[in-house]
Amino acid sequence: MEDIEKKIIEIRRKIHQYPELGNEEYRTAKLIEQTLKQSGIVTKRLSKTGVVGLLNGKRKITNGERCIAFRADIDALPLEEKTHKLYTSKVRGKMHACGHDGNTAIVLGAALILAEGKNIFSGKVKFIFQPNEESSGGAEELIKAGVLDNPKVNAIVGIHVNSHLPSGKIGVRYGEMFAAVDRFSLKIIGEGGHGAAPHEGKDAITIASQIVQALQNIVSRQIDPLEPVVITVGTIKGGERFNILAQEVEMTGTVRTLNEKIHLQIPKLMKKTIKSICSSWGVKYKFNYEIIGYPLTNSEKLVEFCEEVAKKTLGEKNVQRIDKPSMGGEDFAEYARYAPGCLLYLGTNSGKATAYTWHHPKFDLDEKALFVGAKLLSVIALDYLR
Ligand SMILES: [Zn+2]
Ligand SMILES: [Zn+2]
Repeated sequence: MEDIEKKIIEIRRKIHQYPELGNEEYRTAKLIEQTLKQSGIVTKRLSKTGVVGLLNGKRKITNGERCIAFRADIDALPLEEKTHKLYTSKVRGKMHACGHDGNTAIVLGAALILAEGKNIFSGKVKFIFQPNEESSGGAEELIKAGVLDNPKVNAIVGIHVNSHLPSGKIGVRYGEMFAAVDRFSLKIIGEGGHGAAPHEGKDAITIASQIVQALQNIVSRQIDPLEPVVITVGTIKGGERFNILAQEVEMTGTVRTLNEKIHLQIPKLMKKTIKSICSSWGVKYKFNYEIIGYPLTNSEKLVEFCEEVAKKTLGEKNVQRIDKPSMGGEDFAEYARYAPGCLLYLGTNSGKATAYTWHHPKFDLDEKALFVGAKLLSVIALDYLR
């Protein structure tokens, strides 16, 4: 076990030094394959850089050959690292600032532990190493390639390092955990003219500002205040000169929701609002709305199971319930739409250097926690397949 602990840290550092962005994780995928193969785990590539490993338990008593999957995301971020560690990123402008190097090392560690213990369980464990979580689409691609089939996955557990929790503590969340992530763009096509004669044109900037306000009123006046919704206009561009009426304004933004019903209701309300403002001004517009990711709702039964295993394995005081969901997105949600899913947090904060939040240029983690995560996942598998 001590060897595995060392190996996990070694793997994490190797991945950390050579971060790769979404769908470019060639070096990382190779390292994952080598590590799994050395332990006798069969691997397969399901996309350019997406790797899946399958471990068969050798115990004869079968219980219908259940299969549990663990998912790690493997991509890094386009960010210049500002830590000065031995294992700091060697690639300029790229960094593992979300801790996916840690997530990957944890799932590999669990694979090493379970491979050593394959004689004591029956059923199958699938290890999913998913590219491109940060810009979304990685999970969807693997699901389309059949990652949840052959053998069919009966439950899927993910683990993400978390610098807001003390090192080695497990965070569990019942119900909604992450929001749906949608994106929209709007182009208002007004009519130019002299800035001194606004009545002779159709000022796209005035119309746009009405729309920005009206979108906020959807949240505050058309949705149940107990249901969280965020509509953010992130970019707005328009106009040529201080004394010319803006002919066109373009804006883009994001919508976040936790409730699936409201998730589907928002684009309809936005369309209605935009249409009515634009038609009252007599201007044309182009509105585009796309769903990028669904909300993540953990399976209650699976959370309960993982929480129990965590308490038993690590002690009650090391398991903490997360009381609020995040309005951020996490594409683990895609798997949880097809199989019961549970995303766990692993605390990695042991002081100032490891307290920086995700995506911070000084983000780092307490490596001692990684083995705790690996151990927990391996016990989850053993208990699930019992
Ligand atoms: Zn991230
Ligand atoms: Zn992440």
